[in-house]
Amino acid sequence: MLLRNITMAGIYIHIPFCKQACNYCNFHFSTNLSYKEKLVQSIAKELFLRRDFFENETIDTVYFGGGTPSILNEKELHFLINALHKNFDLSMVIEFTLEANPDDLSHEFLGILKDTPINRLSIGIQSFFDYDLHFMNRAHSAEDALNCVNRAHDIGINKISIDLIYGVPNMSVERWEQNLDIAFSLPINHLSSYCLTVEPKTFLHNQIKNNKLPSLDENISEAHFMSLIRKAEIAGFEQYEISNFAKNEAYAKHNTAYWKGEKYLGVGPGAHSFTNHERSWNISNNHEYMRSLENNLLALEKEELTLQDRYNEWVMTGLRTKWGINLSEGNEVFGSDRINYLQKQLQKYVEKNQIVVENDCLVIAKSARFLADGIAADAFMV
Ligand code: SF4
Repeated sequence: MLLRNITMAGIYIHIPFCKQACNYCNFHFSTNLSYKEKLVQSIAKELFLRRDFFENETIDTVYFGGGTPSILNEKELHFLINALHKNFDLSMVIEFTLEANPDDLSHEFLGILKDTPINRLSIGIQSFFDYDLHFMNRAHSAEDALNCVNRAHDIGINKISIDLIYGVPNMSVERWEQNLDIAFSLPINHLSSYCLTVEPKTFLHNQIKNNKLPSLDENISEAHFMSLIRKAEIAGFEQYEISNFAKNEAYAKHNTAYWKGEKYLGVGPGAHSFTNHERSWNISNNHEYMRSLENNLLALEKEELTLQDRYNEWVMTGLRTKWGINLSEGNEVFGSDRINYLQKQLQKYVEKNQIVVENDCLVIAKSARFLADGIAADAFMV
């Protein structure tokens, strides 16, 4: 894990709009698109106000996330990309990602992307079956999901990641495996796959609370996860993080930088920024965000990270990756008392072969990856 001599850095831009609300989602977004252009101007203003965020770091990734960044039109996309260029040195950017929903990836929209520096798509497919998409209240169809990947590839985008969700009620192991088979037959080189979770204040949460839907079944989720690991391996996709799989080392550089503790700037309502010693986050309210920026003020809150906060984050993110956590580096940054505590807390997993010690690193064994968050929690300091 990289915690010193940090030189690389990333920029995240949050586009807080979606066509409709997926029933499980608690991200920050609005379905009222009437002031989208005005908000895009506020984001450009924020980029200007934060142009000195980086010091000697080299920006190597840019990520448009959301919400739904593919909801931007040509003018808005170019406007934001120009604002980025005006305020930051992007000459070393090697990965420029746009999150996109399948129903937005028309020939016309993909043609627009061809004239931008965007070279990677992260497509929110979630399922190749209409039944599941309907259940999740996604805006696209199974046909959209299938066709958009080939269309993007055909126009020359060769870094394509897709998202799939497992653990969906009534999704049998067979249907989940069919989803995986379809995914791996497509021209993708990255897959992010997350278990459906019930987040407070979502439609899904209300439905379950009011007994209109059964609670999610952890046994099914675990069975889906084991299928995911098995089928990804057969297809030549390496699980380099609990929920992320890459072919031929096409790791998501932007996200990997998060997990390695690199500095990033997050712009837009609800976006988070991180430096080695501080975390900050913008207000998750579009109108207050815009009002602040109209007055040339940033609408953000900050917290100083203590050494203990950084230790917990290092354990949490590191144990989720194939690189694990490096004990010598941890010793140097966090001190021997913390690392002795870590080793004592994790010894039981080492004895059960759920953690392996490789080249001075603690790495969670493949068979125990489903337990990663629980294992990490055992090593936290409170
Ligand atoms: S499209 Fe993405 S951000 Fe928007 S509601 Fe659905 S899951 Fe949430």
